[in-house]
Amino acid sequence: MEGPASAEDCLKSPLATGASHQAVILLTAVAVLTVALLAEVQQPTRVTIPALGLRLPTLCIWNRLLGVTCPGCGLTRAITCLAHGDAAAAWQFHAAGWAVFAWLIIQIPYRSINLYRIFQDRQPLPAVAMTAANWAVLVCVFATWAGRNLMNP
Ligand SMILES: [Zn+2]
Repeated sequence: MEGPASAEDCLKSPLATGASHQAVILLTAVAVLTVALLAEVQQPTRVTIPALGLRLPTLCIWNRLLGVTCPGCGLTRAITCLAHGDAAAAWQFHAAGWAVFAWLIIQIPYRSINLYRIFQDRQPLPAVAMTAANWAVLVCVFATWAGRNLMNP
C-alpha cells in the first residue's frame, strides 16, 4: 500500500523537476529583458542602468584576458538596443541580437504555459519546437561571430 507522497518524493518527481527548470528559464528571461529595458548603451562598449546609477562591467572574460571577442560579445548591447526599439544599433553590436531577443520574449508565454500545465498535472508542451529554436539561436550567434572574425581577421 502506498502512503501519501512525501514532500521529498514530490520534489524528485519528473514533473516537479520540470517545473523548476521552466521557472528558472522564465525568471531568467524576465530578468534579462527587465535589465535591458532599464539599461542604456551610452558608448560603444558601455552599458549603464541610469535609474540605479550602475555601470555594467565588461562581462566577457575572453575579451578581458585575451583581447578578442567571444561569440556573445555585443549581445548585451544588442538586446539593450532592441528593448529600446533601436534595431539598427542592435545590428551593429551583434547581428544575432534579434534572434536572442525573440527567443527571450518567446520564453515568457512558453514557460508560463508549461508551468501552468505542470501544476495541472499535465505534460509540458512538446519540446521539439523549442529545441529547434535553441539550436537556431545558437547557430545565428556562432555564425555572426564567425562572420565577424572572417571580415575582420
Ligand atoms: Zn565576449
